[in-house]
This record gives sequence, C-alpha cells and structure tokens, in this order.
Amino acid sequence: MATHAHTHHEHSGESLIDAARESLVASGEQWTSMRSDVFEELARHDRPASAYDIADNLSAKRGKRVAPNSVYRILDLFVSNNLALRVESSNAYLANSHPGCTHDCIFLVCDECGEATHIDNDDISSKVRGVAKSANFSTRRPIIEIRGICASCS
Ligand SMILES: [Zn+2]
Ligand SMILES: [Zn+2]
Ligand SMILES: [Zn+2]
Repeated sequence: MATHAHTHHEHSGESLIDAARESLVASGEQWTSMRSDVFEELARHDRPASAYDIADNLSAKRGKRVAPNSVYRILDLFVSNNLALRVESSNAYLANSHPGCTHDCIFLVCDECGEATHIDNDDISSKVRGVAKSANFSTRRPIIEIRGICASCS
C-alpha cells in the first residue's frame, strides 16, 4: 500500500452506514436489505463479531432464522470491498471505519474483554511489507495484531 498523503475519513454511526453503502454501490454491488442489516449489526458491535453472533441477532430481529452461511458470504463480500475487517486471531469481523480508503489495519486485541482497537500506521505496515519483499516474498495482506490487555481491563 502506498504511503501517499490522502484525505482520511473515519466514520461512525449513521455516517459510517452511509459511507459503507456508497462504497459498495460504487463498486457495482447492490445494497440489499439483508446486506444492510448485516452491516448495521456489525457496526453496532464494539468487539469483533462472528458470523454466528450476527446470524443469531439477525434471526431475532427479522423473526426468522438467518443461516450463518449467508452471513459469512456477505461478510466475505464486505471484506473484499473494504467495508469490513477480519480480525484473524479472534476469527471475527469489525465494521471498517474507513470504507473509502485502504490500509493494512493494525489491531490491538484485549485478552480479557475481547475488544479490538483498530489503528492505522502506514509507516509500520509498509515496513512489514518491505521486510517480506526483501525475502522475495510477495505480500497479499500483512496481518498485524497485538494481543494484550486494554486500558479498561488493566
Ligand atoms: Zn486513509
Ligand atoms: Zn484501518
Ligand atoms: Zn479489555
């Protein structure tokens, strides 16, 4: 990822949902009511949510069973369109607060409460990519996750 200067927008609440919809529609995908529900559910969570968590909550909300598999497919679509981020060490997802721009996001994951704080530092992530490159490794996606104890748990 280039470390060029850009206008970086962090979104939350309604503005995040609008930004996500615009970003998905701009890439030629439809913002269906199911996709909208999955995104809103994801955005409501402070902690990384699994497809199962989201399927459970949506089943209750929609009054009929939503299969985790269909949630998985939507989450995959969100990840490939930069609307959601996958926290590998938690095997779960977070809404991406910057759907408009791509970064190698870094996560601070609390071992006590499970909260994942999302930070961006292109300086670090480009160094990580550089290390891989100098070992003749072609990077698809660096995964940078730091496990530990968050401020409220310490
Ligand atoms: Zn940015
Ligand atoms: Zn990020
Ligand atoms: Zn914590």
